[in-house]
Amino acid sequence: MDDLAFGSRNKRGDWTPNEPASTAPLFVFPPKPLALLKWIPSYFFPFNLLFAASAYVWWVYLLSDLSRFQNFDLFLAIQLYFLNTCALMIFYGLFEIRLYVLRAQGQRFKFNGRWPSDNKSDVFWFKSQLIDNVLRTLLIAMPLWTFIEYVILSFYAHQVPSLPALVDHPIYFAALALIVPVIHETHFYLIHRALHWRPLYRLFHLVHHNSVNPSPFSSLSMHPVEVFLYLGVAFWHVIIPSHPLLALYQLHYAGFGAIPGHIGFDKIELGEENALDTHSYIHYLHHKYFEVNYGDGLIPFDKWFGTWHDGTKEADDRMNDRMTKRRNSAA
Ligand SMILES: [Zn+2]
Ligand SMILES: [Zn+2]
Repeated sequence: MDDLAFGSRNKRGDWTPNEPASTAPLFVFPPKPLALLKWIPSYFFPFNLLFAASAYVWWVYLLSDLSRFQNFDLFLAIQLYFLNTCALMIFYGLFEIRLYVLRAQGQRFKFNGRWPSDNKSDVFWFKSQLIDNVLRTLLIAMPLWTFIEYVILSFYAHQVPSLPALVDHPIYFAALALIVPVIHETHFYLIHRALHWRPLYRLFHLVHHNSVNPSPFSSLSMHPVEVFLYLGVAFWHVIIPSHPLLALYQLHYAGFGAIPGHIGFDKIELGEENALDTHSYIHYLHHKYFEVNYGDGLIPFDKWFGTWHDGTKEADDRMNDRMTKRRNSAA
């Protein structure tokens, strides 16, 4: 595909889409019913549906026998770690191999003109972003992912007699499933905003921002505290009345779903004519500029609180004004 029909490339080789980034047409005033109707399919396809389906498979075929979680079983925890890790390595690996190892679509639709592998830096383990990101994912993110999952399933294992059946409360559970992305967006915005408070940033969040030019495995490359806060969104399903299937969906939405923001490409080509929108521009701009786009745009938190950046020159000017004011007030 000709990416210059959809955007432009500067001298450094960075590609910028013609269309500024936009937030979802939810929570806008006055309401935009037509835009909302047009947007609804993208709420489900392809990612949300995929993470809901993976949670369903995990629950129905692998984890629904909750009696196994009543007492701690190390062998079961290890099995769960391998299951989650294999699934994640396959899922993230498909994007990494196609786009960054095989470079199957070259630099077409790639935001940053440079490849992360060209940037050897001391901030990364073994000076390599990819090795650093993969090791942090395997050694930090996946054990914590499994720990959170195990704790939640153990909680439900002790609730079995009173566990509400999905079929007994179809409207409540359908509504809860529908707002899983909204819960995620709110939780993510709040913890992310807090992690940009300077002392917390230096202690915990800096690790994730080492990947200024993110690639798929940057998604969960985080300090352990940040992983716990981020994937801990699933704990909302032990606080509110819920069901293990929905807790798994929330966890998969956060874990597998971290990838769209870190793909580094605006579109993934599917043949000569078609391409899949990754919706990664908003979070790419966060990695580029740090102090903008703390949320992913499902709820326009950044517009409400003055930190929205849509990739345009005007947004650049607004950001620079804000930074200057902040520096002046700190001086
Ligand atoms: Zn990120
Ligand atoms: Zn950040």
